[in-house]
Amino acid sequence: MRDPPVEIAAPDISAHRPGNTGIPYVTSFASDRAGPHAVISALVHGNELCGAHALLALLEREVRPCRGRLSLAFVNTLAYERFDPASPKLTRYVDEDLNRVWDPATLEGPRRSAELDRAREIRPLIESADALLDLHSMQLPAPPLLLCGPLAKGRRLAEAIGYPGLVVADAGHRAGARMRDFGAFADPASAPAAMLVECGQHWAHSSVAVAIATCRQFLAALDLVTPATLARLGPAPAAEPQRVIEVTHAITVDGGPFQFTADFQGLEVIAERGTLIARDGDQPLHTPYDDCVLIMPSRRLGPGQTAVRLGRFVA
Ligand SMILES: [Zn+2]
Repeated sequence: MRDPPVEIAAPDISAHRPGNTGIPYVTSFASDRAGPHAVISALVHGNELCGAHALLALLEREVRPCRGRLSLAFVNTLAYERFDPASPKLTRYVDEDLNRVWDPATLEGPRRSAELDRAREIRPLIESADALLDLHSMQLPAPPLLLCGPLAKGRRLAEAIGYPGLVVADAGHRAGARMRDFGAFADPASAPAAMLVECGQHWAHSSVAVAIATCRQFLAALDLVTPATLARLGPAPAAEPQRVIEVTHAITVDGGPFQFTADFQGLEVIAERGTLIARDGDQPLHTPYDDCVLIMPSRRLGPGQTAVRLGRFVA
């Protein structure tokens, strides 16, 4: 299958390398008024360009909080610096996926990699967040998704953000913990909540507008900026009723080779329980129930990687 075209450029973010927090590529703005600390992160995956465009829009349009604090973090800049539109898939990371290392044992362990160094560097920022919006994009063209995690507080934050209209409640990947599931974010007894947004296909022009609109709605939900500041990020996106997909299974490649039975793009609803959708080596994979939704079928199908998630509409 041919890769989707690279419609957007990787913008120059080098002016923001110094930042103002002591952590390279992290800029933070505090208001005089008390309020939550909101963090918006981009480039956790180095080839997901929309987040870089969105953070630049926030910086260039001087979006400042009227209460609390707003921090903007370009995360895997080492991978991003290597982005090459001729081979755009290669710069997701340098050594390993930065969104699979977020558990204390890994972060505090002896292992080192480019991504672990960076995760350790930004960990204090992530731990100080009351609310996190992590900007991502997807391999295949599909409608944007808010990934709110498995907890009720994530569901509530997704509802407050209200955009994009499709919400996926999921628990992550067997290959390792995501930043959005780190520490307090995964504790039902504590308040901090995190959201991950998949803004569409990695290099699609439309992903930039989705990323900026999601930042806008996130800031509005937290009541962190004035209406005049919000307006600098464009009008509110058209209201769409939110629908929620609850993930029931994360299918991880076992022995492989893993092959889907069709060219699934994501969000297909498979009507009949027991439909064959893939084979992992000689193991068939059937849908476990009627009206099973396929979420983000992957083209990265090595052993241990998430091949697809299965879920159902619950709202
Ligand atoms: Zn990503």
